[in-house]
Amino acid sequence: MPVKGWIEVHDLYCKGCELCVSACPQHVLALDLDRLTSKGYHPVVLTADGCTGCAICAVVCPEAALTVYREAPQKAPKPAIA
Ligand code: SF4
Ligand code: SF4
Repeated sequence: MPVKGWIEVHDLYCKGCELCVSACPQHVLALDLDRLTSKGYHPVVLTADGCTGCAICAVVCPEAALTVYREAPQKAPKPAIA
């Protein structure tokens, strides 16, 4: 099962430059055209399932506007009798 990730966008810093949108290998980022930040930018938003928590978006963001979370990998169940 693929690792599940998600992001948090910090509106105060996002300037809608779309660098993260272009860089996301899963194509799950877009600008939220229904919303404006207090600085007047459309902030980026997660548009679909499929984020793996790879953090490429956070690395390319020039404003450090993204925090990435990744689900802890499941441990394989141990056999009851070895
Ligand atoms: S999160 Fe960063 S890279 Fe993405 S649009 Fe906002 S400022 Fe640009
Ligand atoms: S963590 Fe990776 S998969 Fe998730 S939105 Fe960012 S670049 Fe895309």
